[in-house]
Amino acid sequence: LKRQNKELRSDMEKLNYMAFRDGLTGLYNRRYVVGDLLEDIRGFQQGEQTCNVMILADIDDFKKVNDTYGHEAGDRALVCIAHILEGHCRKHKVVRWGGEEFLIILFDVTRDEAFGISEGIRKEVEQFPFFYNNVQFKCSLTLGLHTYREQDGIEESINCADKALYRGKRSGKNCSIWFENN
Ligand code: GH3
Ligand code: MG
Ligand code: MG
Repeated sequence: LKRQNKELRSDMEKLNYMAFRDGLTGLYNRRYVVGDLLEDIRGFQQGEQTCNVMILADIDDFKKVNDTYGHEAGDRALVCIAHILEGHCRKHKVVRWGGEEFLIILFDVTRDEAFGISEGIRKEVEQFPFFYNNVQFKCSLTLGLHTYREQDGIEESINCADKALYRGKRSGKNCSIWFENN
C-alpha cells in the first residue's frame, strides 16, 4: 500500500507538471497565468524602486520562416528561442502565450533592469544562427513591456503589453518598447 501510495503521488506530480507546461517548448502554458501567477506576484515583496514587469514577445515574420524553411524548422526555432528566454529569466517566469508569442513575467526588477533583460533577449535572438537540415536562418523578436499594477489586474496588464508590442510591430519590429498611456 505504501509503495502504491508513493507511485500515485509521483503520477500526480507528473500530471500536475504536464498540466502547466507547453508540450513543444516545456515552458509554462496559459494555465499557469490563470492559476498560480497571481500567487507568485503576491509572494514578491516589492522594493521602493522595483516592480513586476510583463513582457509580451512575438517572433517577427514567423509565417515567412515556416513558408521558407518548413514547419519543422519553425518548431525548432520556437524551442531554441524558448531556451534563450529561459536563460535570461532564471529568477522569473516564461510562458508560451500563443503560437509564436511568449509572456515573460519579471519579478521585483527596476524599469532599467526590465528593459535591459528585454534588450538582452532581443539581441541574442537577433544574432542567433538557427539551423535546420544544414540550412541556416535568422529570427527576431518584438517585445512590449508594461509595469504590472495590482489595481489593473493581470489581464489588463497583458493587454497593455500587447498594445506596446503592436506599436513595436508598427514601428519596424525587432525592438523593445514600453507601453505608454496615449
Ligand atoms: P509578425 O511579425 O506581424 O508577428 O508576423 P508573423 O508572420 O510572425 O505573424 P502571423 O500572426 O501572421 O503568423 C504567425 C505564424 O506563426 C503563423 C503560424 O503558422 C506560425 N505558428 C504558430 N504556432 C506555431 C507552431 O507551433 N509551430 C510553427 N512551426 N509555427 C507556428
Ligand atoms: Mg503573433
Ligand atoms: Mg509574429
